[in-house]
Amino acid sequence: MSQESLETVVHQQAQKAKINLLGFSTSRLYDFFDGIGEKRFRATQIIKWIHQEGQCDFSKMTNLSKDLRSKLADIAEIKLPEVVSCQDSIDGTRKWLIRVDGGSCIEMVYIPERERGTLCVSSQIGCALDCSFCATGKQGFNRDLTAAEIIGQLWIAADSFDQFTPKAKRRVSNVVMMGMGEPLMNFDNVVDAMSIMLEDNAYGLSKRRVTLSTSGVVPQLDKLADVSDVSLAISLHAPNDELRNQLVPINRKYPLAQFIASAQNYIEKMPDNRRKVTVEYTLMDQINDRSIHARELAVLLKDLPCKINLIPFNSFPGSDYKTVTKTALSRFRDILMAEGYTVTVRTTRGDDIAAACGQLAGEVNDRTKRQARYKKRLDETQPINIIG
Ligand code: SAH
Ligand code: SF4
Repeated sequence: MSQESLETVVHQQAQKAKINLLGFSTSRLYDFFDGIGEKRFRATQIIKWIHQEGQCDFSKMTNLSKDLRSKLADIAEIKLPEVVSCQDSIDGTRKWLIRVDGGSCIEMVYIPERERGTLCVSSQIGCALDCSFCATGKQGFNRDLTAAEIIGQLWIAADSFDQFTPKAKRRVSNVVMMGMGEPLMNFDNVVDAMSIMLEDNAYGLSKRRVTLSTSGVVPQLDKLADVSDVSLAISLHAPNDELRNQLVPINRKYPLAQFIASAQNYIEKMPDNRRKVTVEYTLMDQINDRSIHARELAVLLKDLPCKINLIPFNSFPGSDYKTVTKTALSRFRDILMAEGYTVTVRTTRGDDIAAACGQLAGEVNDRTKRQARYKKRLDETQPINIIG
């Protein structure tokens, strides 16, 4: 091999091995700078450059010495996932399709409201938990997202609104971990990414404005209580184990009583005793929308400080369920309100671009073969088109 091509190979190897600093919280950056013999205050400088200035090029980080800039460029990088497409709904909702390493794509949604702008972030490529009413679940599962891929979604949204400049058009004021995937199944990366969301030197979001939603991975929720105090949403969808076992299969492992006790423990550990859990309940016609279900839910939640968010089911190609009728929705809400609960109904946003809750599917290179089975079933149930 010639000297020149050897150098190219060495250079390529070095490129491959570069450490991506995008997903590093301050404490991980401390370790990184300790490891390369640099002062710890560099961590604060770098995190501000990346997440407050939106700067991903070391050579432009003007408060670092030239030597440090080139040393960093040799060993590290700030690498974002690739935006494949970005669609705007007529109601202002924006949806991105984002390609991550390995070729799969995830989806992310921004929902503007008068007082706030909420970004719905994905935590996994697909989801292994297979809830029967969820498009992500039907896609199967590929892998966990890295902390860089999770916080990279917030960076991309912030950049698209010029949030890193004084002429910001809009802002991401809230983040909900309600995109593709079950955040507690990707615990460490989600905790790291959320800590960057909260960090003053990065996005500085208040813990009330960052919400983790889970379908009930109880041991991980118990663990979360020790390391984080972001807001919590729990996806119940049924008031008893029999029905929930069918809709949310993880319930067979961690039944309702355990899940609710764990959520209770989570909010009790929080310093601010005014905080409440948000209970998410997706309403499906004739499945979980009867008066008896509402009354049972009122009893189930009687000791849990909570507010209830009712979500009319959003359909997707091949989904098995129908959405709740207006009458059943009002009846369900009124029963809970009469029992003293605070109840909100989630309005469907971004329906025209398939950006509503539970519709995110991305492009998952499925490793579970679930997607193939699902597609086969879909094909079999479709009428055969006999022409001529
Ligand atoms: N895995 C987590 C977070 C992602 S799902 C969880 O399950 O909580 C975010 C929310 O969307 C959950 O409450 C989920 O139950 C709800 N959802 C899923 N599919 C839906 C659908 N088709 N229509 C309405 N809501 C849905
Ligand atoms: Fe996974 Fe949540 Fe969808 Fe269930 S509802 S399959 S846990 S993303």
